[in-house]
Amino acid sequence: MGKVYLIGAGPGDPELLTVKAARILASADIVLHDALVTPQVLALVSAKARVIDVGKRCGKKLLTQEEINAYLVHASTVAEVVVRLKSGDPLVFGRAGEEIEALQNAGVEFEIVPGITSALAAAAAARVSLTDRRFASQVLFTTAHRKGGAMALDWARAITSDTTVAIYMPGSAYAELANALVENGIDPQTPCVIVSRAAQDSQQVLRTDIADLVNLRGVEAPALLIVGRVAQSEAESVTKDIWKQLRDIAAQDEQPIT
Ligand code: SAH
Repeated sequence: MGKVYLIGAGPGDPELLTVKAARILASADIVLHDALVTPQVLALVSAKARVIDVGKRCGKKLLTQEEINAYLVHASTVAEVVVRLKSGDPLVFGRAGEEIEALQNAGVEFEIVPGITSALAAAAAARVSLTDRRFASQVLFTTAHRKGGAMALDWARAITSDTTVAIYMPGSAYAELANALVENGIDPQTPCVIVSRAAQDSQQVLRTDIADLVNLRGVEAPALLIVGRVAQSEAESVTKDIWKQLRDIAAQDEQPIT
């Protein structure tokens, strides 16, 4: 019997893999990977390995989740090192729950190797401190999904102004997302930052606010949206601080600066 490893491939840059992930990839016999795993990471897979893309293409799945579960169990009977490679971290929006259950039920030995989830890669790219103590006390990893055609943000009403929200799979309808956020009580002035292809060569960082998100077009997938006061631009917060200091000094001098 072989062993199955559920491995986080991180956001794309192979240098952001764990040392353990890189070591196991180099000795793998079978690798099942998602569409979002980059060629640079796949380049680290052992040349002897059978590499199978089980991801989605244009919304169409190449293999169903049940087929993947069954294949993982089968692979462990014919190979020693079986890898299920997922973008980011396998336990964050990665459908690992079903795979863990299938492996457990079949009595297959397995291990989970964490990866850098895209919310953290996006925060690093945008230089946003997710829990900047001046603005936030908690972080929510969530997603925007549709229920019966309309965007359902079940979580949005519960969040407070000191919550940083990382939205996975924001889709391409940013206007709809922005409207849904406002309808659910989020202040339209709330800053946000969209990071497209975090930690990849084509990485893009766009800063805006919820009100302006409506005008956003042409963001390349995969992208992650960070919403919250922590997302205000570095320059803006520094400038604000400087102006405040200047005003305080001027007030002391009784010479108002306008
Ligand atoms: N397990 C993954 C998430 C898979 S769901 C993780 O932990 O990151 C797929 C979503 O992840 C995408 O729709 C996008 O929102 C996000 N994502 C994955 N890779 C990304 C990247 N390099 N840059 C920005 N977002 C990414």
